[in-house]
Amino acid sequence: MKIPSKIKIFLWKSSHNWLSTGYNLNRRRIQVDVSCPVCYRRPETSLHALWCYPAVKHIRMLCPSMKGLKCTDGTNFVDFMIMCINVLNNDFQELLCVIFFCMWFLRNQHIHCPSSSSDREVVFWANSFIQEFRDVNFPEAKSPVSADGNGKVGLGIIIHDGGGEVLACRAVPILADFSPVISEALAILHGLRFALEIGRVPCLVETDSLVIINLLRNDVMPFAEVGLIVQDIRRSRSSVF
Ligand SMILES: [Zn+2]
Repeated sequence: MKIPSKIKIFLWKSSHNWLSTGYNLNRRRIQVDVSCPVCYRRPETSLHALWCYPAVKHIRMLCPSMKGLKCTDGTNFVDFMIMCINVLNNDFQELLCVIFFCMWFLRNQHIHCPSSSSDREVVFWANSFIQEFRDVNFPEAKSPVSADGNGKVGLGIIIHDGGGEVLACRAVPILADFSPVISEALAILHGLRFALEIGRVPCLVETDSLVIINLLRNDVMPFAEVGLIVQDIRRSRSSVF
């Protein structure tokens, strides 16, 4: 699986019941309450902590291919993983691993800092996390649409009126081989600045990048370069819309 090492280590710990859940601590003769600190209804096994958290129902709604991934109290984490590998394609297997990682973070946040819980954003966060990881580490899998493979990216910006008539257009060549997500974010940023420059504001932005739309809609700040560009888009947006 093409996932970061820290997530591989996390999965390895989960598979060996080394997460500090109530059930796992109790098995190691540490006297703690075995019940789940979120629902208080079931023993907190590794799988319960990672896949029975209330946020999982949102994930099932957002990722239909994960709808059938149900487990009972007796299912152990390794058996669940084997079932997932059998029914999900590679992309969703990798996404699921990142979601497990987020679930553990949310579970700990729920215990130590309940008010800052943001479970609805897990899928968006996990999606952009894995996408950025693929872009940076496996550039051969990039879409050829926005990069020419020679270290150059061409950004195309078209401004049209409500009826579809083109009012202005601009091509911005950039001498760097950015990932598709970063190229799309840069195109939006240049587009907003162009609209401002020629006085075509307020305006509406059209993009087919779901990752960017989700990043702009949610207040989750992604890491790495795309986070900085999204921040710039938000700033430009306030002066354009
Ligand atoms: Zn629970």
